[in-house]
Amino acid sequence: MSSPTDFTLAGARDALRAKEVSAVELTEAFIGAVEAARPLNAFVTETPDRARAMAKESDARIAKGEARPLEGLPLAIKDLFCTKGVRTTAGSNILSNFVPPYESTVSQNLWDAGAVMLGKTNMDEFAMGSSNETSAFGPVFNPWRSRTSNAKLVPGGSSGGSAAAVAAQACLAATGTDTGGSIRQPAAVAGIVGLKPTYGRCSRYGIVAFASSLDQAGPMTRNVRDAALLLRAMASVDPKDSTSVDVPVPDYEADLERGVKGLRIGIPKEYRIDGAPPEIDALWAEGVAWMKAQGAEIIDVSLPHTKYALPTYYIVAPAEASSNLARYDGVRFGHRAKGAHDIADLYEKSRAEGFGREVQRRILIGTYVLSSGYYDAYYIRAQKLRSLIADDFTQAYKKCDVLLTPATPGPAFAVGAKTADPVSMYLNDVFTVTVNLAGLPAISVPAGATADGLPLGLQVIGKAFDEATVLRAARAIEVAANFTARPQPWWRAA
Ligand code: GLN
Repeated sequence: MSSPTDFTLAGARDALRAKEVSAVELTEAFIGAVEAARPLNAFVTETPDRARAMAKESDARIAKGEARPLEGLPLAIKDLFCTKGVRTTAGSNILSNFVPPYESTVSQNLWDAGAVMLGKTNMDEFAMGSSNETSAFGPVFNPWRSRTSNAKLVPGGSSGGSAAAVAAQACLAATGTDTGGSIRQPAAVAGIVGLKPTYGRCSRYGIVAFASSLDQAGPMTRNVRDAALLLRAMASVDPKDSTSVDVPVPDYEADLERGVKGLRIGIPKEYRIDGAPPEIDALWAEGVAWMKAQGAEIIDVSLPHTKYALPTYYIVAPAEASSNLARYDGVRFGHRAKGAHDIADLYEKSRAEGFGREVQRRILIGTYVLSSGYYDAYYIRAQKLRSLIADDFTQAYKKCDVLLTPATPGPAFAVGAKTADPVSMYLNDVFTVTVNLAGLPAISVPAGATADGLPLGLQVIGKAFDEATVLRAARAIEVAANFTARPQPWWRAA
C-alpha cells in the first residue's frame, strides 16, 4: 500500500479494525487528496475541520472496541443531500447560501454508522444533466483523459463531482442520486461502480427534490464490494419518507462471491441501438461471454416499449421538477433578487437570476405538459407509457433473474461537446432511464475501455428489492473484466 488513499472502502475498514492505520491518519491523507484534486472542481464545499473531529471520535471508538460499520471511513456527499450546518447548494445559485437546519436521512445513516465527511461534491444544477456542465459552480473534469488527446473530458452527470472524487481517489466512496441515470452514467464514464437502488430502498428525506417519483440515492465506489457495504448503511425505511419501503436490508457483502452459475441473465434486444460506437456492442457481447463462461444461462428477452422511455422520462421528470421547484420563490426559499417593485416582479427576477438555463428549460417543459389542454396529450400519455415500460420488465422477469445491458452509449466526451444540443445530451441516458421509470435497482460496473483507454461500463438491472443478485452478478463481471487501469494524476501537476 503506497498511500492510505489507495485503500478501498472495505480495505480501509479492515485496516482500521486491525489497527494498521488510524482514522485520523486516513482522514488526513484524504484531506490532502481533496486539496490536490482541486483542479478537477469535484467539491463545492470542503469540510476538513468536521472530518478531523469525526475521525478523532472514530479513533476513540475503535480504541474502546466500539467500531460501527463505517467507523472512520472518509466519504464525499453529493451536494443534493442536506447536511445540517453545512451549505447545500444543489449546484444552483438559487441555493448558494442555503445552510440546512436538518440532515438528510441517508447522510444521517452514514454518520450514525461512523463515516467521516470530507465535503460536498459538485453536480449538475438540481441534478439536471449528464455532464456536470449545468452546475452554477462550474464544470467538473473527469480524471480520465484519452490516450490520444489532452482535451478535458466531462465526468458524466449529474453526480459528476462524486464520480470524479472517487476516480481520483479523493475519497473512499461517495453518495450520488439517480433520477434517470445520474449515478450509473457518471460511474460508467469515470471507471467506477455506481448503484441505483430500488425506488424506496433509501429514504429521500432531506434530498433536494428533482422528480420525486424517480429520485433515488445510491453508492458510488471503487468496486462492487464497497457498493454492497455502503448501500447497506445508506438504506433504511424512514417515517419521514412515505415512499420508503419496509423490506429488510440484507448483508449484501455476504452473498457477493456466490457467482452466477445457474443465474438466468436476460439480454434485451431493444438495447442494441443504431449509431452506438461498435465498442459498446463489443463490450456487451464480451459481458455475455463472461457470464456464459461462469455458468449463467443467457436468455434473449424483449422490452418492447424501450424506445418510448426517453420521451416519457422527459415529460414525467420535468413535470415533477416544475412542481418541486415552485417553492424557490425568493420569499420562503432561495435567492432573493434586489430592486423588485412588486411581488410578481420579485418572483420573476429571483427565479431568473437563481436558475440556470437547463433548469429554466425543464420548468418550462414541465409547466407546459401539465397545463390545461396539454395535460391529457402529454402527461397522462407519458404516465400510461410508464406503466407499459414497467410491465415490460415484469414480463421479462418471468424468464430471467437479471438483465445485462450497456451502461452508456459511449465514453466520456469533451467538455462543451454537447452543451449546445440538449437532445444529444439527453441521449446519454438511453440505457438508464427505463430503470427509473420502472423503479428497479441497477448497477454500472467498469468492464473495459475504448481504444483510447477511456473506461466503459456494463449495467446489470434487477428485480425490485433484489439488489443482492444485482451485486452478485456485478461482482462476477468485475472478476472477469479485471479492469485495473487508473487515470494518470495530471491534475496534481496543474
Ligand atoms: N441526465 C438526466 C437528466 O438530465 C438524469 C439526471 C439524473 O438522474 N438526476 O434528467
